[in-house]
Amino acid sequence: MNLTRCEMGNRQLMPQSEPATVLELRDVSIELGGKPILNHLSIEFWAGHVHAVVGPNGAGKSTMANVIMGLAGYTHHTGDVLLDGEPINHLSVDQRARRGITLAWQEPARFEGLRVRSFLRAAARVKSEERLRFALEQVDLSPDKYLDRAVDSTLSGGERKRIELASILVMEPKVVLMDEPDSGIDVEALQRIFDAMRLFREQGATVITITHSQAVLEQTEHAFLFCCGQLVNKGSVEKISRYFGQRCQACEDVSLEHIAMEEVQG
Ligand code: ADP
Ligand code: MG
Repeated sequence: MNLTRCEMGNRQLMPQSEPATVLELRDVSIELGGKPILNHLSIEFWAGHVHAVVGPNGAGKSTMANVIMGLAGYTHHTGDVLLDGEPINHLSVDQRARRGITLAWQEPARFEGLRVRSFLRAAARVKSEERLRFALEQVDLSPDKYLDRAVDSTLSGGERKRIELASILVMEPKVVLMDEPDSGIDVEALQRIFDAMRLFREQGATVITITHSQAVLEQTEHAFLFCCGQLVNKGSVEKISRYFGQRCQACEDVSLEHIAMEEVQG
């Protein structure tokens, strides 16, 4: 469609609609060990946004990530997982990964002994030397120094983490799931998580960060509050922070009806 200059002007003045949804769960329920863990969960993640998912222990946050990824033991749910509007329920973990869904930092690194170059190239969507060098620069490692290094105990823990991050960047994922990336790490490592979130975002990825940390929540743009396998609130980080700070320390402390009632009353 060709637009005149005037029509283009009008278009810019039109109110912004909601951002496009890249990933959606529609009425997803799952039982694990005979207990309902996700309970008719419907949730939409906007393309190119950094989302936080918070809520008490046992609320079903990790279960949601595992369902999205299609991990073994989490595929018997009802309802649909949709990527770009298409159901992906029937896809394997590998197929979902090829469609661009990545669960970051879940597995222990399996690249012992490889050169950094080979490790990155194996992960890369675009396998050019330039692409690999750029990813190393993004994580503040000099390509000249690191590309030919072996990934082994001669690298520090911090260097390995950066190389892992570079390997996710070269995958160019569409959706990055991070399940409590902040658990058990120090301040310097927390800064690396923030850097990772920023780099994914700059690359146009949608980031879904499950977290218990107020500091991580504050790095996001939009947040969801889970309780007892359901979405009980969503919106700005500021709004969700209130619940995060004052309630929902554990599922038993929370009356779901009470929260729902408050929402209705505004
Ligand atoms: P969260 O990440 O919000 O803390 P989870 O999704 O890990 O919560 O777990 C929700 C509930 O589901 C917990 O009570 C947990 O014990 C249970 N659960 C999770 N995975 C399994 C499983 N594979 N088998 C049985 N119960 C499970
Ligand atoms: Mg969890």
